[in-house]
Amino acid sequence: MRNLLHAVCIAAVFSVGSLAQSTQTSEGLKQYVPVLPSVRKGFWDVDPKLGYAMKPVGGGMYVITDDMWQSAFLVTEDGVIVFDAPETFGAKIPKAVASVTNQPIKYLIYSHIHRDHIGGATVFRNLKGVKIVALQAVSEFLKTQNDLERPVPDETFTADRTIKLGGKTVQLSRHFYHSNEGDLFIYVPEAEFMMAVDCVTPGYIPFSGFDITTNFDQYLKVFDELMAYDFTTFVGGHLTQIGGKQDVQDTKDFTMDVYQTVKRIHNGVDQQAVVAEAAKTIGYDNKFLLFRVILDKVTDEAVAELKPRWINRLAGVDVWLETQVRSALIYVRWDDKK
Ligand SMILES: [Zn+2]
Repeated sequence: MRNLLHAVCIAAVFSVGSLAQSTQTSEGLKQYVPVLPSVRKGFWDVDPKLGYAMKPVGGGMYVITDDMWQSAFLVTEDGVIVFDAPETFGAKIPKAVASVTNQPIKYLIYSHIHRDHIGGATVFRNLKGVKIVALQAVSEFLKTQNDLERPVPDETFTADRTIKLGGKTVQLSRHFYHSNEGDLFIYVPEAEFMMAVDCVTPGYIPFSGFDITTNFDQYLKVFDELMAYDFTTFVGGHLTQIGGKQDVQDTKDFTMDVYQTVKRIHNGVDQQAVVAEAAKTIGYDNKFLLFRVILDKVTDEAVAELKPRWINRLAGVDVWLETQVRSALIYVRWDDKK
């Protein structure tokens, strides 16, 4: 009976806790702050009938968004190069291109393997004269997938490729900040344009777990690698806003603060004392639970410290901060030096 009561109490505590943060109840949802007004001001008007909004950003570059994903294309005097074909609106891109130029589409570049960014590519496969270009490792992965919605590229390269077309240059270079097969920096110097998908979302902290990176060590380096280029327009592949160097810097500042805060708190915890305290209640049998107590302590303390520092600077802090802390904690505990 005592055990049962204890279990009921714990369940009650957990349900109260999760109620406050739940995304599954209206009460829980109301706990989240609205998107920052400064970010809201930057929203584009997406015509619901059209399903996307499009803007020229200079030098022949256009950016298209449906409010959740972004694509871009470069118009030259000798054809058009498209960067990514998102699952949601990729099929509409040829029409969008045709609305601003009579030039034919010559290339589609895949930024990386993820379905959400290239799962609308089939329409390009059916267009005459279009070559799909991607990293060799991306191509190898797609061959194993045999996915009709992500056609295998026509041309591949290992690490770097430059495409010159109609007096414009597209520099593609491989990085590993996000996905195992590689992620491209897509740089158009004549347009001062940089596209690097899934690392920086201007105005916001990154998506869950530092943009679901498979390599936080490389993610930590991506900002300086981006800053080494000259660009005024930055496209990150998600939501509406395009950005610039300040957005890369802001995301770097946030990322480094999370990393350093988690590292300081983790390395300062007296783990034996934390385990001994928890063992007074549960004993020493449940080693997984005792381990979790340590990780949760670091996570909770880091979130409590970081949240007030960032909640008014970038959007999405209360949505994803805990996931960022968890990702940094895995790196700090298992990969990083003390
Ligand atoms: Zn991705």
